[in-house]
Amino acid sequence: MTPPANAARNSNAARDIAHVMHPYTDQRAHAVNGPVVITRGEGVRVWDDQGKEYIEAMAGLWCASLGFSSKRLADVAHQQMLKLPFYHAFTAKSHEPLIDLSEMLIERAPCPMSKVFYANSGSEANDTAVKMIWYYNNAIGRPLKKKLIARHKAYHGITAVAGSLTGLPANHKMFDLPVSDRFIHVSTPHHYHGGLPGESEEDFATRLATELEETILREGPETVAGFFAEPVMGAGGVMVPPATYFAKIQAVLRKYDVLFVADEVICGFGRTGNYWGCQTFDITPDIITCAKALSASFLPISAIIINDKVFQGLADGSATIGTFGHGFTYSGHPVSAAVAMETLKIYDEMNLVEHVRTVGAHMQKALRDRFEGHPLVGEVRGVGMVGAVELVADQATRKNFDPSVKIGPRLAKAGEAEGVILRGLPNDAMAFSPPLIMQIDDIDRMVERAGRALDAVTVQLR
Ligand code: PLP
Repeated sequence: MTPPANAARNSNAARDIAHVMHPYTDQRAHAVNGPVVITRGEGVRVWDDQGKEYIEAMAGLWCASLGFSSKRLADVAHQQMLKLPFYHAFTAKSHEPLIDLSEMLIERAPCPMSKVFYANSGSEANDTAVKMIWYYNNAIGRPLKKKLIARHKAYHGITAVAGSLTGLPANHKMFDLPVSDRFIHVSTPHHYHGGLPGESEEDFATRLATELEETILREGPETVAGFFAEPVMGAGGVMVPPATYFAKIQAVLRKYDVLFVADEVICGFGRTGNYWGCQTFDITPDIITCAKALSASFLPISAIIINDKVFQGLADGSATIGTFGHGFTYSGHPVSAAVAMETLKIYDEMNLVEHVRTVGAHMQKALRDRFEGHPLVGEVRGVGMVGAVELVADQATRKNFDPSVKIGPRLAKAGEAEGVILRGLPNDAMAFSPPLIMQIDDIDRMVERAGRALDAVTVQLR
């Protein structure tokens, strides 16, 4: 493969093109454009192998909550590696980091919860939640109750089952997902695009709850087992639900005995201005999945937190079979668990929720001040320290750009030139999900740089 013009032979770029297949990348375009090779991080910034500095407006993948340096977390990992680098949790084996972290998560849960199960990624956590729901319904004698409802534009991961819950075309096309007709998608709760002319957020929410109820009745309530939702939809475009949405949705789910799985993989640990997204939107879930900020992303770990109702069903099933036949080699890995515990302690000490409320309010205002009224901007939205600026080709019709314009990649590239790492999402939304440690001065710099990037793209499109 020919390296890009600026990639010297044997450069990182040339070797990357020769040997790496990147996730979420147009492989052909990559062969021409090459990678950005990040070599180090400090605070909310990273540097590439050319020495260029970037503010990380996405905390990597919504995940590096404490930024890109922490001697304290590194020391904890080191100490745990010296003491017990690996042990597993199968067949009733345990270790202290696993026990301590589970206790901390149950104490911090947004509603009474019973047990914690571990995996390594958000996708595995959601796969596990689906399998738990199927197992639970078999165990309690409801073998027909197996269908799962998620929303269009939801992101629940990419493994075969979690990818089936995800509601984004790029995750389904050519992968033959969803894997079965057990996966059903209902409308995206995004008022800007989904609301009818003149319809209030509350009326829109009522209409979505009615759609959910009609879907359950059409499928047969005895076949519908679970509803998956991100409190704020992230990768689908940062969609904050319309007022009253979750109250109305939960009323329908309760009526038909459908379990609520809150996917807190992005929202969990402060992102929305409460410890959990569930608290921001008054959600009482049966199961919570979380990952990313659980360990500040210093090491992979995810958790599935279940209530006692679910646990009792799973426990009965396992007693019948003689085991709960599910688990990962690295479920509750001691080094990841030790780092996660220390991360939660850091959150307590930094008064995470108060910090996000203050800095988040500033970020939301700064984004609105800079981007509302810009000729390419349709909507600026967000809550806490997650937000998006949606670009539109036509403000009156709210039409997004033709995919051939590649507005997202253009903007990401312009951002790189300005020293800010941005990510274009479906819906032509430019997302902001910076490290939660970000302070107000860096919020301002991030918005300034992103603003200049958007201005540069505006000039390109003239
Ligand atoms: N759920 C949500 C809400 C996510 O945002 C993500 C990843 O971005 C996932 C699940 C999947 O997590 P992972 O990439 O760790 O598999």
